[in-house]
Amino acid sequence: MVIVAVLFPVTGGSYPSQTALCMSRVKMMALGAVLNMGENDDILPFASSWMDRIVPDGTPEAVFHDKKAVAQGRYGYAFSDSASGLKKSKVAEPKDFPLTFETILPGRNAHGALSSMPPVGRHGTSDKVGYLDTHVKRILVSGH
Ligand SMILES: [Zn+2]
Repeated sequence: MVIVAVLFPVTGGSYPSQTALCMSRVKMMALGAVLNMGENDDILPFASSWMDRIVPDGTPEAVFHDKKAVAQGRYGYAFSDSASGLKKSKVAEPKDFPLTFETILPGRNAHGALSSMPPVGRHGTSDKVGYLDTHVKRILVSGH
């Protein structure tokens, strides 16, 4: 899991915007879930403990924080309930299967459906979703 630790940026210093940092976090969380799946007979993490599974012990908690969500008392990211404990072979199209996304749900290990995404984009006019093939897509919503 060393690679995941390296790929998770803790600060946004070298990023051009909060949007870019957020996209990076969503992507790395999806990648972390996929790497964890590779170590667990191709079974995705359980949604109730997904954050505990995808990074090594000692990883700074900040990798799970969406800066603007933290200001609202939330972590800001969720894992799809539909993906919880699912075997990879059950998914027909990994590029269309959401794993990680911005959410208004509170707390660590937040999980739910895409309907819990912020109705107004936190930074800009989109919410970010990470898919099973580890690509990230910006879903257009209204801006501030
Ligand atoms: Zn965000």
